[in-house]
Amino acid sequence: MTSDRPNPERPPDERETPKSNGALLLLIEDESSMQRLLEIVLEDQGYRVIVAGTGKQGIVHVATRNPDLVLLDLGLPDMEGEEVIRRLREWWTRPIVIISARGREEEKVKVLDAGADDYVTKPFDVREMLARIRVALRHSRAQTAPAEAVIEAGSVILDTVLRRVSMEGREIRVTPTEYRLLTLLLKNADRVLTHRQILKDVWGVAYEDQVSILRVTMANLRKKIEKDPSRPLHLKNEPGIGYRFCTGGDNSRGGTLP
Ligand code: CA
Repeated sequence: MTSDRPNPERPPDERETPKSNGALLLLIEDESSMQRLLEIVLEDQGYRVIVAGTGKQGIVHVATRNPDLVLLDLGLPDMEGEEVIRRLREWWTRPIVIISARGREEEKVKVLDAGADDYVTKPFDVREMLARIRVALRHSRAQTAPAEAVIEAGSVILDTVLRRVSMEGREIRVTPTEYRLLTLLLKNADRVLTHRQILKDVWGVAYEDQVSILRVTMANLRKKIEKDPSRPLHLKNEPGIGYRFCTGGDNSRGGTLP
């Protein structure tokens, strides 16, 4: 190795120290080839991994081992993924990240509304899956910490005491609704939120099906915080599902309108 220039072939995570802190992950997945692949990838990152091949066994493992995070495949032989989540959410609050087949948006929305934290789509990018796991674990740890007065996500800073939003040092004027929407998104930075979750939180239960209201407010907010509102770097659409505030300003995925 003679060049100091970064090798563009090298995945960005490869030489980083694993940030897993030895977190215990439970993988609920019935396909043995997938189990092995994920075990290798996750253990390589420093995670400890336990595996369950059925929904029932998964629930037992959660009860007995209390993992830091569950990685749940929706295509299980004995139980619908949604059912697994509903049962777990009756008593267990740690993150659940879904592994789902491509193009089943309705199913993803159902499991997210049932209490899953995020999802990756099969066949998935391993780096993306690891990023989703890190975000879910970080968010889970943040839940137990005292609420922060100032939320910083990417270039956006939100002061919850002064109720002020700023970006790169300049103040952004937002309406009270836009402020509530932005606060929710920043508190859940890098996590997906469904339309229903956002509508319930920002507008109230009576509005949970009014996706058009959300679209209009989102469009206005993009005009204020995106350099190019037609190609948003932060306020990303997750087609058919909802929105995600991306702190990295990465435009490689999910940047479609509306
Ligand atoms: Ca499966």
